[in-house]
Amino acid sequence: MSAAVPPAMDPTAAGEMVREDAAWCALHGLVVGDRADPRSATVPGVGLVHAPFSLLPAHLSESFWRQACELAPIFNELVDRVSMDGNFLQDALSKTRQVDDFTSRLLEIHRKIMEINKEENIRLGLHRSDYMLDSETSSLLQIELNTISASFPGLGSLVIFTARREKYVEAEGQVLPDGTLLVGGQKVAVVYYRAGNTPNDYPSEAEWSARLMMEQSSAVKCPSISYHLVGTKKIQQELAKPSVLERFLESKEEIDKVRKCFAGLWSLEDEEIIKTTVEKPELFVLKPQREGRGNNIYGLDLRETLVRLQKEGGDALAAYILMQRIFPKASLAYLVRGGVCHEGLAISELGIYGAYLRYKDKVVINEQCGYLMRTKVSSSDEGGVAAGFAVLDSLYLTGK
Ligand code: ADP
Ligand code: MG
Repeated sequence: MSAAVPPAMDPTAAGEMVREDAAWCALHGLVVGDRADPRSATVPGVGLVHAPFSLLPAHLSESFWRQACELAPIFNELVDRVSMDGNFLQDALSKTRQVDDFTSRLLEIHRKIMEINKEENIRLGLHRSDYMLDSETSSLLQIELNTISASFPGLGSLVIFTARREKYVEAEGQVLPDGTLLVGGQKVAVVYYRAGNTPNDYPSEAEWSARLMMEQSSAVKCPSISYHLVGTKKIQQELAKPSVLERFLESKEEIDKVRKCFAGLWSLEDEEIIKTTVEKPELFVLKPQREGRGNNIYGLDLRETLVRLQKEGGDALAAYILMQRIFPKASLAYLVRGGVCHEGLAISELGIYGAYLRYKDKVVINEQCGYLMRTKVSSSDEGGVAAGFAVLDSLYLTGK
């Protein structure tokens, strides 16, 4: 994340470090499924490989680290407050729903929950806010806020039940009149979604019915449908509009801190910004209303997509948001994947986890609870570790 460029490494020393570090990963469980092994996803404990990692830590100035950590509890509270304003969520996403079936299905569940005036007494959030350091302005800017299925969390042990296979829940689950969720005869206290944030997670109606069933139950959902919607890119863009943060936060100091980390964000109703983007597409990122990697549109593709969508007319543009492209300074890095070390210029993205637990009016937990540093070669537009773009990194805090 910093300007500091480590000196080129001696290849023998690098090779030794790779071997030692890969062994360390295996010993400490820093492993992921190996795509090259067909039995990896089906036979437990088989087909594991060290998680891709960076040989040397990314440098980050302590003041940015502190800034990102301080933001975590504020974002936790903001998510909770926005989630309580059902009409805001429905209105802000109303155009998106017309052109995006997935968002529309989520909003439908949300509307049903609003209609029964369901109160969530216990609200649990495990979020991750991602940032990059913009080199031009030397400011820490938010990439996105993940409120569902944030990967590589630091708090995995909090969860009791993992709703990975919603079809099973639909077949074996029921909600008792008092709201208790039973699955396979067992009471479920907490539903943690490690999936459910992409259309692929709902191959049939069974998964949608299961999602609704869980939402209607009194089990604690992490996230609830409202928390999930607050984490959409469209809401990120709505919150960046003038005076919107003021609706949800009272403290001017907190509002300033949050606003300071917002990059430029626009909806595509604005003719002027479309014109600028078509002229200089390299300064922007076009994001569809999707989570989970590989969806963003850059450069010439961005220009072409905008021109095409404009020609098509209608509301197609409403399915996207436009974001200022952030340019972190690239540093020399050694990225290790599958035991092989690749040297190259790389940029980093810092994720800060936040945990929030509320019982009625009482905030029980509201804290920063871990971090995730990901580093990728600077020529890659995307950033996921599991998706094969980035590697896990460690942090070296510097005084500057
Ligand atoms: P998702 O993780 O849901 O696919 P993100 O908004 O996190 O969506 O975008 C994916 C990746 O694209 C990020 O991890 C980051 O590497 C890159 N990216 C996203 N927004 C920007 C931006 N404004 N400037 C530069 N890179 C970006
Ligand atoms: Mg992301």
